[in-house]
Amino acid sequence: MEILKIIGDAYSGYLGYLINEITHPSWHNYFYWLIGISLFCWAIIGFAAVSNVVSHFFNEALASIGITNLAIITEKSLPYAVYFLILFVAKDFIQWNIHRLLHASPFLWEFHKVHHSVKEMGFAAHLRYHWMENVIYKVLQYIPLAMLGYGLSDFFAADIIALAIGHLNHSNVALPLGPLKYIINHAQMHLWHHAKEIPSKTGVNFGISLSVWDYLFGTVYYPETDGTTPLGFPGDEDFPKDFIHQELHH
Ligand SMILES: [Zn+2]
Ligand SMILES: [Zn+2]
Repeated sequence: MEILKIIGDAYSGYLGYLINEITHPSWHNYFYWLIGISLFCWAIIGFAAVSNVVSHFFNEALASIGITNLAIITEKSLPYAVYFLILFVAKDFIQWNIHRLLHASPFLWEFHKVHHSVKEMGFAAHLRYHWMENVIYKVLQYIPLAMLGYGLSDFFAADIIALAIGHLNHSNVALPLGPLKYIINHAQMHLWHHAKEIPSKTGVNFGISLSVWDYLFGTVYYPETDGTTPLGFPGDEDFPKDFIHQELHH
């Protein structure tokens, strides 16, 4: 009986807590955070659905002018590791170009400012960006990557690897990469991408997962300093500080 009472009390205690949480919404409220996170995830799934619909109509439009297969290479024609490596490098190069465009175009820069409003590096800074960036990257990547014949599961694996490297790039951890630093992007290099004072008006170190593009195209900035520098962009004092206003900024 004693045990049943303890169990009964636990349930009634939790019920009281839950009712209290539901009837008292606040920023510290666990229940509403859960609801909010669920809605956020549903919104992301909705976004994926919308982009799939766009892809579908795009393919239909191509089919109507007689193009049914954009793919130049296919999984079957190459060993998987080679095929995947080509995908990864091609995707990264396309993203490097899109990133340059986000800096070069005054219209797109307004969206990208959200990512550059971070004042301190930390892995979470990687995921601070305007939602429009998702749309811009997806739309601009789609055609060239579809031409290379990549499927959704390949994209997924490439994205997970890029996500892990991206997190490391935004962390405050200096990785001693040795000569690999000329190929793989890293925190010491990406820090200067976020520096407030840089020698170029249109940005430096645009690398996403690979740093090699910046070396090849002369957009590297890697000063010999102790690695401390103020982050941001000129005029960021007046930039909105909260999530909602940043996501709505343009
Ligand atoms: Zn940038
Ligand atoms: Zn960044």
